[in-house]
This record gives sequence, structure tokens and C-alpha cells, in this order.
Amino acid sequence: MIPSHALPGGLRLDAHKERSTKQPIRAASPSERHVIPLDQHAGAPARPLVKAGERVRMYQPIAQPAPGISAWLHAPVSGEVIAIEPRPAPHRLGAPTLSLVIANDGRDEPFENAAAVVSFEQISPTEACEHIARGGIVGLGGAAFPTANKLESSLCEDGPRLLLNGAECEPYISCDEMLMRERAEDIVFGARALLHALCAPSCTIAIEAGVPEAHEALRRALDKAADSRIRIKIVPAIYPAGGERQLIASVFGVEVPYDGLPADIGIVCQNVGTAAAVARWIRDRQPLISRIVTVTGDGVSAPANLETRIGTPFASLIGDCGGYTERMSRLIMGGSMMGASLPHDDMPVVKATNCIVAASALDLQPRGPEMPCIRCGACSYVCPAFLLPQQLHWYLHPYDGTQLDRHGLLDCIECGCCDYVCPSQIPLAERFREGKPLLVRELDAKRSADTARAHFYARNERLARLEAEHRAKLAAMRRPKQQ
Ligand code: SF4
Ligand code: SF4
Repeated sequence: MIPSHALPGGLRLDAHKERSTKQPIRAASPSERHVIPLDQHAGAPARPLVKAGERVRMYQPIAQPAPGISAWLHAPVSGEVIAIEPRPAPHRLGAPTLSLVIANDGRDEPFENAAAVVSFEQISPTEACEHIARGGIVGLGGAAFPTANKLESSLCEDGPRLLLNGAECEPYISCDEMLMRERAEDIVFGARALLHALCAPSCTIAIEAGVPEAHEALRRALDKAADSRIRIKIVPAIYPAGGERQLIASVFGVEVPYDGLPADIGIVCQNVGTAAAVARWIRDRQPLISRIVTVTGDGVSAPANLETRIGTPFASLIGDCGGYTERMSRLIMGGSMMGASLPHDDMPVVKATNCIVAASALDLQPRGPEMPCIRCGACSYVCPAFLLPQQLHWYLHPYDGTQLDRHGLLDCIECGCCDYVCPSQIPLAERFREGKPLLVRELDAKRSADTARAHFYARNERLARLEAEHRAKLAAMRRPKQQ
């Protein structure tokens, strides 16, 4: 086994995965209605291909990508489109977002998608990326970045190194661990397809220490595939080892540049769930219409991992897990460290929904009243992004955009390690999350002002040059001609 590089900062957190990993993955109950937000991926919202009142079949494309970064959407069930209207969604808590609402007829009549039939190994990498796009595949680790867009932007002459992220560092999320345990062959198949699409020479599957069943299942799948390009690497179970930049540092010992992307250093990172989704699309012709969701926390009776169709209401999954306990106090999408609190459970599962935590007071870190910073420095020791959280906090009140930019506010991954250790109970990550849009706006405005200033100076120079040329011409005309 290859040793991993040290991860800067981070925390060793108590794992709470055993609650949801006692039983195998099972299918969530069918739902009467599926709400499919058009903007559930990074980039521009998809454009509907169907109208209200139209009948759709399972797997049918129901929205196509907008130009640029965007993704296809497919019907998760057969039935009727009963509305296209704004609906609440867990990834856009500010306002309802335009969604397709499908009434499930319970028949699961499949759509025969001619575009799903390709001989994958015989098509070019560009065609392979296009084909992956048609499956509606997006990053299933939580960011929901369209996979084809990421692959296309990472194509390089020597072929980038592929990194599959199976390091699920949030203490409550176990969907990737269960996927690796039960569907390791899908992950390896998907890895080989991604290697082909990228012309990549190698793939590393990174998993955390302490998940022996997942490790063993992956090892068996790799033995069966006999593909020497793919290897497994165990990384320490330190939160947030699964953050993209942190994982790259831990696996390859290199740092992604401050203002760059992994592709800039020849690395492409995909989640293991994304690789499995690629396998289901290429091998089984099933576009991305479902994903595994961990439903857990002390506020739900029987935590589990459920194979869930996109658009299923959270309330239905809670019902599948025995309902809420009396201790339930807060519903969170994502993990307990980086997840977002939800106002209610009438929200649909989207492609980014990896976990729902029904948290009781036992699951939540007790938080006392906020006190002034005592400059103890504990926050900077645990920051995995090499930031000085106490300084960032200092420059947020009063707001000083220049210093916040200098101190790297935009590099903060909002992991929450700093507020976890802060003796003054300052909600640092929340403050940084609120401060980032202000800084982004300020930097955008500054960039626009710099561009306008550069145009202004260029225009003045051009006018001065024309004026000088004009004067020179006039002077030449006035000069008496030599006899
Ligand atoms: S941990 Fe809290 S109290 Fe200590 S320096 Fe950081 S912000 Fe200040
Ligand atoms: S929330 Fe931001 S500042 Fe705090 S530890 Fe994480 S990366 Fe560092």
C-alpha cells in the first residue's frame, strides 16, 4: 500500500456511520409525485423538453442542457407532467426554483433511448464525453458539477491523472461507503470508462482508513478487472480529507494553485458515485435518475441508505426510515459539518442529495453564547486551507475587502473545523459563508472598474495618436514646396 501525504489541519471526529450501515442499501418506496428542479446542477438551468399535461416514460430526457455548463435531466418514473412551476428545493433555500412536477403512474414504462446505445470503447474521447453528458451525469459528491464539462475541460496532451474520491469524511454520510461495499464492480467499470474518455494513464481510488469491507470489495473488483492502471490508496480518516484540494494534497503530495483548478496540474477528481453512475449509463443504458441517499441521525427511527429516485420528497424517505423520533430537532441536507439546515421536509431529493440528517441535540455540537476572540490561534492550527480564521473574522467586522482578499477568504472551503474548536463559540464558517458573496461582488466591481479604466486610457492614447498624426499631416501640407 502506498503511504499518503500528511493532510494539513483537520479534525479527528467521532464517526456516526454505524447507524446507517447495519443493513444493505434498499430501494426507497415509490412516491406519487416527483419534483425535478431544472437548476439542480452547477451552471445554467436545463431547458424543458416537455409541457404540462404531456405523458413521459422512465429514462425519457425531459430537459436539455443550456449552452455552456449545464446538464440533461431524465424522467425518474413514467407518468404525467402536471406542472412546470417554482417549487421549494433543498439546494436553493432562498426562493422556490423552476421545477417539473411528474405524477407517477406506478408503471415504470421505460423510454427506448436510441442515444444510449454506443460502443463506448470504439468512440473518441470527445464523443465519449458527449455520451456521458447525454446520461445527465453530474458529480455525486455534493457539488453536482456536470461530469462531461469537467472531463472536457481536463483533456490534455499527456492525459490527466484520474482520482476517484471515496473518502467520505463527514461523520454521518455513508452512501459512498455502502456503494463501495455493494457495487464495487460498477465503480471499477466507471473508472475504466472515465480513463478512456480522458485518455488518462492511471486512476487512483482514494478511500479512508477504517472501512475494511469497502476496501476488500474494491480489491476484489480490481482483481477481477485485472486492470493495472487502477490502484487503491488509503488516506487517513481526518475531516475534511475528502475535500477535493485536501485529497489531492494527501494522495499526490501536490497543491492545487491558489487561483487554479486540479486540471491545471493534470488531475481530474470524480466521486466514486459518479463513476458508478457512468457505469450504469454506459453498460445498462440507465441515465442518472436515482442515487443513494443516507438517511440518518438520532432524530429518525431506523437510519438507512436508500436507492432513491430524483424528485422523491424528503418526507417520504423519513417515512421509509420509521419516521421521526421525539428527539428530532433539526433537518439537515448534507453532513452535520457542512450541510444546510432545512426549514421543512417537503423538499425533493436532487442529484446533490447525498445525506439527510434528522438531528437531535445529541448530534449537534452544543453552542453557547458567542464571546470575543481571545486570539488563542486554535482555529488556524486546524484550518486545512492554511488560512488564519481569526484574521478573516477580524477583517469581516468592520468589513475590509482588501485584507479579506489578501488573507484568502475565497479559499475557505467552509469545512467548519475552525468553529468546532473555537473556545469563544464564534460561528466562523457561517460568517465566512456570508462574507464571500460581498467579496466576490467587490472583486467583480473592481475588475469592471479596472477594465473601464484600461479602456479609458487606451482611448485617450488612441485619440492623442490620431491627433498627432493629423497635426503632422497638416504641418506637411503647410510646408512650402521646394522648387
Ligand atoms: S479559535 Fe476562536 S478565539 Fe481562538 S483565535 Fe480563533 S477565533 Fe479567536
Ligand atoms: S471553515 Fe474555512 S477558515 Fe474555517 S477551518 Fe474551514 S477552510 Fe479554514
